[in-house]
Amino acid sequence: MKVVLAAVLLASGCGEQTTTRIVTAPSAASRYEDIREAVDRLNEEVGEEVFTLGVASGEGPVDGYAVVRVVDQLAGEEQTGSTWRDSKGVVIRILPTTSTVQIAHEFGHAAGLKHVPYRVNLMFARARNWRLTDEQRRALIAQTEH
Ligand SMILES: [Zn+2]
Repeated sequence: MKVVLAAVLLASGCGEQTTTRIVTAPSAASRYEDIREAVDRLNEEVGEEVFTLGVASGEGPVDGYAVVRVVDQLAGEEQTGSTWRDSKGVVIRILPTTSTVQIAHEFGHAAGLKHVPYRVNLMFARARNWRLTDEQRRALIAQTEH
């Protein structure tokens, strides 16, 4: 997971700011306000603008961006989101019912964060809380300093 993210960061070029750039696919247009809130609250939690938000014209992966799609169903019955990356980019899938904090959890994955066993943390597998550890905050901020 870490290796591929590094490839994405390299593709976007060192020497320039490398935020995690989130874009909404047309299927996610109805969730745009919640996605916006997830980005804003995450940036607030980190204390720096490490996530940016834009709009994609299609559903496909976009090089260097994390595309958010809304789907009717995910693989696991209890799953509320999934994030995966391939050579073309990152794709985040959420449901029409996925909560704002769970959307932010997927953005954490898109930025390279892994699950932690703390219930109060954003990266707890079944996230209900926005809190990040100092280590997670530093990892997100480090991305903007390439
Ligand atoms: Zn997760």
